[in-house]
Amino acid sequence: MNVFAVMDARSNVNGGKLMEESIRSILADPGILGDAAASLARDADIRLAGVSSMQIVQILMEVESRFEIEIPEDMIRPETFRSIGVIAEAVEVVVKQQSPVGKPPNGEPMDRASTAGTRLRAPGVEMTSRADESVLDGLRASLARLFAHEVDDHYTAPPVIARSVSERAGYPSSFPHLLGEVHGALPGSGTGPSDLVLTSAACHHLYPLISEEWRKELGCLSVEAACYRGEATAETGRLRSFRMYEIVRWGAPDDIAMWRHRALSIAESWLRDLGLSIERAAANDPFFGSAGRYLASAQQSEQLKWEMLADVDDGVNQAVASVNYHKDHFGEAFGLARPDGSVGHSACLAFGLDRLLLALKQRYGSQIPAWPETIRARLEL
Ligand code: 5GP
Ligand code: ZN
Repeated sequence: MNVFAVMDARSNVNGGKLMEESIRSILADPGILGDAAASLARDADIRLAGVSSMQIVQILMEVESRFEIEIPEDMIRPETFRSIGVIAEAVEVVVKQQSPVGKPPNGEPMDRASTAGTRLRAPGVEMTSRADESVLDGLRASLARLFAHEVDDHYTAPPVIARSVSERAGYPSSFPHLLGEVHGALPGSGTGPSDLVLTSAACHHLYPLISEEWRKELGCLSVEAACYRGEATAETGRLRSFRMYEIVRWGAPDDIAMWRHRALSIAESWLRDLGLSIERAAANDPFFGSAGRYLASAQQSEQLKWEMLADVDDGVNQAVASVNYHKDHFGEAFGLARPDGSVGHSACLAFGLDRLLLALKQRYGSQIPAWPETIRARLEL
């Protein structure tokens, strides 16, 4: 945006009404409300008028670019984007606070764990011994039994996935700081980014399959994949490569909304039966940047993600499992049409196998033969 356009936009600030019209013009984008924005009342709830979370992110980004401001973190929440009037007032406040010169840069500083230097083993990349793998096998078998009544089939997915699937899932745009890409020889000549990226979440592998085989009103599959996330730190339990076991269900909105509550309580009792002391918390994914802070805040306030946390080390409490209600996010992205033509909803329940192993070791010690007989029996050890 050129500097005069910014000055123009910023000169609306003292106008009140002018600012309101400026916000209205953003909502009049054909990708948001189009012509309907003109007749929207100043205090009307824009979500009720049909503006989605993604469109609110679009509004947020347009406001930031148009006024050359950065909406502060504590304002990036659904209440700030409730109506044209509320947005206009919030933007006025921020524009007055932030001068166009010297505003903080966009984006977040990344402090990735460095693998440079003399260190041979990369932080957050661990191997598993045979004894530990037998615990993971016990967990896999126990989870398979736990969900046997509803899971139609189980898949083991590779550590790479089609870039196009990851893009459809929205991962590179929402989590560019965590995505791992595959570079290599390209068809023809030279090297560069390939058509693959590293798997970020096991369930991403299932959506193309579900969209091709979408025949039932309700369905359920499970999947395990080695996932990669470019985590900035590598404390105990924070790996860059870890195994994720997921149960994914899709179907009618009401069924899925109910299923995620049921899945949460089934998972919690299973974890407690393993003797772990579990804390449940509403959570959010680490979306990138200021638009991401809005998505994270909306995810928290709508309680779309619940984590089950356990101690994985002295004083280190981490999510060993989480349940995520995607609403129509993947349904829209992958064309999951229900038999009546409407968009299907989906939810997933994810278990971090490596973290579960750590939590069990933290609880019972590193000597697996010394674990209580009941736990060993449960895990067929
Ligand atoms: P989510 O997609 O909810 O972030 O992750 C699903 C599950 O994968 C989490 O509940 C957790 O158990 C596991 N997980 C996520 N990030 C990491 C990580 O950095 N290291 C390990 N070991 N597990 C993780
Ligand atoms: Zn998932």
